Order: sequence, then structure tokens, then C-alpha cells
Amino acid sequence: MVPLLDVNAQNHPLESELQAAFTEVLKHGRFIMGPEMETFEKEIATMTGAKHALSVSSGTDALLLALMALNIQPGDEVLCPAFTFFATAGAVSRLGAVPVFTDICPICFNLDVNDARKKITAKTKAIIPVHLFGQCADMDPILALATEHGLKVVEDAAQSIGAAYKGRQSGTMGHFGTYSFFPSKNLGGFGDGGMLVTNDDELAEFARVLRVHGSKPKYYHHYVGGNFRMDTLQCALLSVKVKRYAQYTADRQRNAANYTEALSKLPGIVLADPAHCKCASAQNEALAAQGAKIVLPVAYGHNSHIWNQFTLRVLGGKRDSLRDHLVAKKIGCDIYYPVTLDQQQCFANLPAASRSGCEVAHQLAQEVLSIPIYGELSEAQREEVIAAIAEWL
Ligand SMILES: *Cc1c(COP(=O)(O)O)cnc(C)c1O
Repeated sequence: MVPLLDVNAQNHPLESELQAAFTEVLKHGRFIMGPEMETFEKEIATMTGAKHALSVSSGTDALLLALMALNIQPGDEVLCPAFTFFATAGAVSRLGAVPVFTDICPICFNLDVNDARKKITAKTKAIIPVHLFGQCADMDPILALATEHGLKVVEDAAQSIGAAYKGRQSGTMGHFGTYSFFPSKNLGGFGDGGMLVTNDDELAEFARVLRVHGSKPKYYHHYVGGNFRMDTLQCALLSVKVKRYAQYTADRQRNAANYTEALSKLPGIVLADPAHCKCASAQNEALAAQGAKIVLPVAYGHNSHIWNQFTLRVLGGKRDSLRDHLVAKKIGCDIYYPVTLDQQQCFANLPAASRSGCEVAHQLAQEVLSIPIYGELSEAQREEVIAAIAEWL
């Protein structure tokens, strides 16, 4: 038995420290914006190198708050990848703006800047690159495109806190970056929580005011904001884990390297080829020529990947067969994501132009399968996963 994720394996060894942190908060009773909030925000700012870090109620609210602070209005268009968790586009829609879905790169699963460029109109105001599964999108051309067209950039770094692109931290390259502490993220909390980061003093100040209903001072409202605060208690508990974050990342990277080494030796399993960056047709041809059955994920040389997911591509319409096999062997696995955002029911009434041309995303939604990668996996468990895949081939 290998679960896809075991949060207790990471949290239970910290029990006495977590209890102590809880006791401290219980003692002082400042449950909203208490002293542990500021401490935790400073820890995240230090870790990521962001100038400002604002704790917020969730990764979803971090996105919403970022777009509010950037003054995204009804009717504005915001580019975002078709292949991501729903919240990326949900935040756009909730402001009455239109998510315009772009296709993705078949190597890193992230926004394809060439497709984004084609979809820019006079109404385009912002772009949300997502750093999916723990690896950064190709930010240099995305930032260049944004500068050229005056677009705001919000990095959805919910799955990639601590990942880097050419030495720059995920979340710190655009106007805003957003992180999530949902329990399944790499810095997993004890409930919901998130962080908004920026290097811009004015944007930070505006977001800070919007976080508390747009009031400054209290009860004087210049803007309509919301309650986007994170609990003091959640901050106190996460401070216990943030000190160990480098180790958590190293553990996941070790697991990924181990899988890569063992699985790539099996017949029919190949590594994704970075030479096919943003070029699905060349990649599909090469994979067919190799007789590939499964494609392993890779990190680009310029990226430090933190492996929130280890996502296989299972070719030839066999994905569900491998999933069923692993489930029968009691090996946790899941499909992130089975339906692309341009195909979601709730977006069916969006203009057709905002839902066009996402073929690579559609292909990958049929092929992806994520296997256990959490840091506390034992060697025996990794071997069990590898053996089960080998048996299926
Ligand atoms: C988890 C996630 C979010 C939302 O974070 P929550 O804290 O669950 O609200 C947003 N975007 C992506 C890509 C995510 O994976």
C-alpha cells in the first residue's frame, strides 16, 4: 500500500512543536492578525526573496486579491493556461473579467507564450502564468510579452513555492505572486491559507488595505475589499514547518531523481525531451518513433523543480488502464487534471475566442497520471510503485 500523499507522515513528528505553537496562541488570544502572522510573513519573504509578503485566507483568495489590487474590471481579458487548477480562472471570472485560455507546452505543462501572443486583444489586461506541478513556466518570454503589451503579470505559484527559474524565485518575477498552503501543497498547512507576494510598495499597500475590507483606518472604507486574512494560529503552525522546508524539497527531489533513474531503464518508458519545448507535433512524432508508452516528466536545465506532482504521460489511450492497475495494487495515483478549463461547463457561455486552440492541453488531459512523490515515501514504497508500473508495461 502506497498512498498518493500522507500528510501525517510529515506532521506527526512535529507534534510537540505544533502543540507548543498552539498553546502560545491560545495564551495571548490574538487570533486575528496576531504576532505570529507577521513572523510567518517575514519568514516567507526571506525564503522567497520577495519584498512584501501578505498572508491571506487561501491561494484562491491570493489570486483574487492580486487581480483586485491590479484593478481588473468587468469585461477585461486575462490570459491563463487551459491546463491548471480551477482557481486560476475562477478568480478572473469572479471579477466579471474574461479568462482567455492559452495552450500549454507539452514538456513542462505550462503556458505556451506563442499561443498567448496570438490571443492578445485590445481588452487584454493581464496574464497569469501558472508554475504547475512545481516547475516554473518559461518566464523570460512571458515577461517580455507582458512588457510589450502593458499587461500585468500574476504568477500562480500555488504549487511551486521555493521553485526557481534562472535563479529567480517563483512568484517574485511578476507584479504579484501567489502561494497556497492547502495541505497537499509542498508547504502544506493545517487547513486553508495562502500568501500574496510582490516587490512593488504601492501594490503591497493597496492589497494590504483590500485584505481588510478596503478600510484604512478601521471603519473608513475607500474601497470595497474583503476579508482575506489568514488565522494567527495557521501562521504559527506553518512557522514550525517553514524552518524545515529546504529538507522537504530535497526529499521530493531525491524521490523524483530515483523514479527517473529506475523508470527510464524500463522498455517503453522515455524521458520528455526539452528540445521539444512548446512543440507538441515534433514531440508526438519523436515519441511514436521511439515506441514510447510512458513519458517521464523532466525539469528544464534553467529550472529548480520542487516536484509538487510527479506526472507521467501515458500514451496510446492507455492512461485509465495504468490507473486501474495501480489502484488494484493499492498504489495511490490521480489525474491532474481530467478536464481542461476551456471545456468546463461553467465557462461554456464565454466567447468562443476565449476557448479556442488548446489542443495540447486536451491531449495531456487524456494522458496524465500523477504518482506518489511526497518526501516521506520510503525506499520500499518507491520500489513498490516502480514494480507495479513495470508489471503493467
Ligand atoms: C491549489 C491551487 C490554487 C488554490 O489554492 P487554495 O489554497 O486551495 O485556494 C490555485 N492555483 C493552483 C495552480 C493550485 O494548485
